[in-house]
Amino acid sequence: MSQHRPHRLSDFVADLSDLLDQTGDEAVILREGAALLAHLVAADDWLPEPQSQPDPARYQQYLLHRDPAGRFSVVSFVWGPGQATPVHDHTVWGLVGVLRGAELSQAYERRGEALAAAGEVQRLEAGQVEAVSPTVGDIHRVANAFDDLVSISIHVYGADIGTVKRSTYDADGKPKAFVSGYADVPPPLLFDRASALAYGAAE
Ligand code: FE
Repeated sequence: MSQHRPHRLSDFVADLSDLLDQTGDEAVILREGAALLAHLVAADDWLPEPQSQPDPARYQQYLLHRDPAGRFSVVSFVWGPGQATPVHDHTVWGLVGVLRGAELSQAYERRGEALAAAGEVQRLEAGQVEAVSPTVGDIHRVANAFDDLVSISIHVYGADIGTVKRSTYDADGKPKAFVSGYADVPPPLLFDRASALAYGAAE
């Protein structure tokens, strides 16, 4: 990581904001948003240090940006070795892009009252993006693919996800109310579009 390029996150936020100005169509947001996120996670030279720290006790969720209009949030998800989420849902659209390391994702689907694994475990490598939503499949369990390395993924959701009332699920598929919150670290300062462009032009 010779040169730090924080403008990449600012550009992503500006581009996603433009996209959401243009459409509320979830399929379009997921498709075009996935391309924007793939571009963001294609280079691992922009995530600030405070938002890349693992915690030995628990995976960490650092707020990177909250849209002033509440339309989306961007979160850095930092996995310590071997850490995993419970089975959980989101209730809004979401995109996950792996920045560093790799993660394992198992989708679940409802079978009456119960939940059943849907398909194989997916391994997402750095640079790959996947989508979740109540439309395309909203329940999954995610884990660091490594038990000896930190992995980091960048998550984007169609709401201020740290405040959304959603659910985790036990082995019987029974939901339990859950609000994720965020780690107690302030989000980084972003460039506005004009200064981000100026910064880019100066390189
Ligand atoms: Fe998730």
